Amino acid sequence: MSYHIPSDEQLTEILVKVLKKAYSIQFQSKLKQLIMDELKTDDKKYGVSVQRLRKLAIKNPHITIEIHSREGDPDKILKGCPVCDHRLKHVKNLTIWGGVVTIELQCPNCGYWTGKKKRVPTRYIFHYKK
Ligand SMILES: [Zn+2]
Repeated sequence: MSYHIPSDEQLTEILVKVLKKAYSIQFQSKLKQLIMDELKTDDKKYGVSVQRLRKLAIKNPHITIEIHSREGDPDKILKGCPVCDHRLKHVKNLTIWGGVVTIELQCPNCGYWTGKKKRVPTRYIFHYKK
């Protein structure tokens, strides 16, 4: 059986519907399960990744995502935002000696930020917002 890929519109509609009902969903895997239940039909199998759900949720004004994280490896090079793949912005700060140092990286898309120890997202909590 082949997988059907739902459209952004279709997924967004279900995302909002599911969250409006649950109000808060504590785990990304739980959110995906609820979405899959909504999509399920007898003759079609759907393929949806959690990354895609996250990106759609970030774009949606009715959804907020709470990101929990742990400290990561300071030497790790982040090519993009670990939450949404967006390019990270360097936030610079002046030191008292007049030099410029990069103190953190920030994602203008989803609000992820990290200092020296590259924060690793470990859990996402989804909230419905009116
Ligand atoms: Zn991001």
